[in-house]
Amino acid sequence: MGRVTDLEDLPLRADLRGLKPYGAPQAPLPVALNVNENTHPVPEEVADDILDSIAIALREVNRYPDREFTELREGFADYLGHGLTRDQIWAANGSNEVLQHVLQAFAGPGRTAFGFAPTYSMYPLLARGTGAEWIAGTREHDYTLVAETAAAQVADAAPDVVFLCAPNNPTGTPLRLDVIEAVYDATDGIVVVDEAYQEFAPRDEQSALTLLPERPRLVVSRTMSKAFAFAGARVGYLAADPAVIDALRLVRLPYHLSALTQAAASAALRHAPVMLGTVDEIVAERDRISATLAALGYTPHESWTNFVLFSGVDDPASTWQALYDRGILIRDVGIPHSLRVTAGTAEESTAFLEALASIGSAA
Ligand SMILES: *Cc1c(COP(=O)(O)O)cnc(C)c1O
Repeated sequence: MGRVTDLEDLPLRADLRGLKPYGAPQAPLPVALNVNENTHPVPEEVADDILDSIAIALREVNRYPDREFTELREGFADYLGHGLTRDQIWAANGSNEVLQHVLQAFAGPGRTAFGFAPTYSMYPLLARGTGAEWIAGTREHDYTLVAETAAAQVADAAPDVVFLCAPNNPTGTPLRLDVIEAVYDATDGIVVVDEAYQEFAPRDEQSALTLLPERPRLVVSRTMSKAFAFAGARVGYLAADPAVIDALRLVRLPYHLSALTQAAASAALRHAPVMLGTVDEIVAERDRISATLAALGYTPHESWTNFVLFSGVDDPASTWQALYDRGILIRDVGIPHSLRVTAGTAEESTAFLEALASIGSAA
C-alpha cells in the first residue's frame, strides 16, 4: 500500500472534504487576548481546595467515575438557581461537547441547524461534524436581532436546531428575551440559547433560564471557560427539560466526564463567588477598552461579554500582525474592517491599547 500523504488520499466522509478545523492561533505571546479566557489565574485558596479534591478522586481512579456526575449536576443546579434541580442539568467536556451532544441527538444526517451570522464559529463546524446542514440567517446592521424578523427567518428555514448566542460571539451583542420567545414559537425544533458570557451581562438582566418553564424544547447552555476562569479544565453544562437530558444520554460516551474533571469542577463550584470575583474588574476593563477605542477613532460595538468587537480598522490583517509583532495576540474573526479583543487584566488591556495607539490604523 502506498504511503498516505494527505487527507485527499484517505477514505474521508464526502461531507467533510474541504472543511477547515477550528484554528484560533495558539502562540506563546506575553499578552494573549484572543480566545476570551478569563486572564486572571484561579485564586490560591481555591486552587488548594481543588487540588485536595483531585487528590481524593485520584485514590479511586482505578474505578470508572460516576456516569451520572450526580454531585456536579447538583452543584450546577444550585449555582444556576431558578428552582432548577439536577434532573434538568447536563454537563460535558466544555460547552462545545454539550452542544455536540445536542446536535447528535437532535440534528445529524438529513437534518439542519440554524444560527444568525456572524455568530460563534463552532456552530457550523459542530453541526457538519454530526452530518447536519448549517443554515445561516442574517442580523440587523448593528448585529442585533429583532423578534419579528428573526422569527420569520426561523419559520422559513424550519431547522431542527436553532442556536441563539446570548450575548453573541464575536460581536458582543445582547439578545432580548422577546426574541428568544418569538423564535421558540416559530419552530418545532430545539432552541439552544448559548449563555457562555451571561456572567458579564448587567446584573439586573434576566437569563433565558427564566423562560424554561413550559418550554420543553428550550435549552440554555453555559460554560466554566469564561467568567469562571476554568477554560483548561474543559467543563460546560446546560439546563433543560428532563426529557432533553434523557435524549442526551443516548449519544454521550459512557463515563465521558472523568473523575478528576468532576472533582475539580465540583470544588470550583463550591467557591463560585471567589471564582467569579474578577468579573466586575473585567467588565470595567471592557468598558475602558471600548471608550479608548472610540477615542482612538475606531467604532467599538456594544458588548455584554468579556470582549469587544471594533470596526473602522483599515486593514485588519496588518493591524493584527503589527500587534502580534509587539507581543499582543487578538482575533481577526473575518468580519471586514473589524477585530476582536478580550478584556484582560488592567496591565494587559493597557498594553493592547498603547500598542494599538502606536500603530494608528483607524480607517
Ligand atoms: C467560548 C465559547 C463557548 C465555550 O466553549 P467551551 O467548550 O465551554 O470552552 C461556548 N459558546 C460560545 C459562544 C463561546 O464563545
